[in-house]
Amino acid sequence: MANVYRWQAPGNGKIFDKPLGEVSYMNSRTIAVLKFVLEKVKVSQAEFEREIKAYLEENTDYEENNSTPAHFFRPLLFLGFLKISSSKVLELTLEGDKFLYFYERQEYKKCKKYILNQLDNSKYPSIATKEIKLQLFPFRILFKLLLSELERGLSKEFIKEQLIYLKSYDDLVLYEKSGNLEKIAKEQEYDKFYTWVVNSLVNIEILKKKNGNYFIADDIYADVETLYKNLSFESLFFGDETLFCQLDGKTANERYKRDARLIQDAKVRDNFTCQIDKTHETFISKGVNYVEGHHVVPMFQQKNYTLNLDDVDNILSLCPTCHREIHSGDNKGDILSKIYKIQLAFMSQNSISSEDLQKMYYCA
Ligand SMILES: [Zn+2]
Ligand SMILES: [Zn+2]
Repeated sequence: MANVYRWQAPGNGKIFDKPLGEVSYMNSRTIAVLKFVLEKVKVSQAEFEREIKAYLEENTDYEENNSTPAHFFRPLLFLGFLKISSSKVLELTLEGDKFLYFYERQEYKKCKKYILNQLDNSKYPSIATKEIKLQLFPFRILFKLLLSELERGLSKEFIKEQLIYLKSYDDLVLYEKSGNLEKIAKEQEYDKFYTWVVNSLVNIEILKKKNGNYFIADDIYADVETLYKNLSFESLFFGDETLFCQLDGKTANERYKRDARLIQDAKVRDNFTCQIDKTHETFISKGVNYVEGHHVVPMFQQKNYTLNLDDVDNILSLCPTCHREIHSGDNKGDILSKIYKIQLAFMSQNSISSEDLQKMYYCA
């Protein structure tokens, strides 16, 4: 396939077409797909495709049609409520799990927040839109622009005819100067990002429409501001694979102030030894064994928690090798299990399971 440089909406149709909690075809379908995967815990893509239509027929007012069953889960991959392994096994992400938990308890305000938080993770290319050659976070850009246009909002034409063709940091600089993106090169017409995604955000009241323009909905405004006000333009784009990961340290740093003294306190508490294995050798720096402080529940997860993650009880001293492994290792399972055991008190106190922790370190 040729290179594609425009924002795409994967799958088939909207995720939600009515406020959360209201019954509608798309709302019911989306919730049923999540429930199906939850019941299976892990399900191969093949099994999903074999069984999902019958499941929808039984549990919703779905009527048989010829859509591809893969279209039912792709949007949820794009939004990060589902993940898929390299061996094509689907399961819920941490956020998908929490979203469904609160949805079933009719706590829709919390659900809306999880959607906002997950939009923040969506990027191009993603596992759901592999052919896209962009390296950007579309919703970070959308919300950043909405924050900068509080008075006049963004018009439908701007989103449909300009924004979805935005490719790079330079385009955004151009926008800052001219207030539009008219000069950027456009591919052929393709407005599903607008029709499916942006309109769906209006339906669930993350965005509101006034006089034909789009604005941030009032009751989610403060959350949007926390996420995007201090975010630099650079954090809306990425150039290398390390930033693909949800452990987005740069973004977390721009959003939340951290207290360097807490890191020092943790090192003193740990006697300047690697907590994975106290015999791990490093070198002497400033008269002590060199170790690094790591936030076990990553600061990037702060948006999903009310407890303050910048807490000495959430910081562990690690030797540079272990620290690198936890950020960049291909198989973090073992090291995360060890860390979970060490942090058991903090984890149980805050109802974080071992699976939750593993999922926080998942990189799409
Ligand atoms: Zn770290
Ligand atoms: Zn170590």
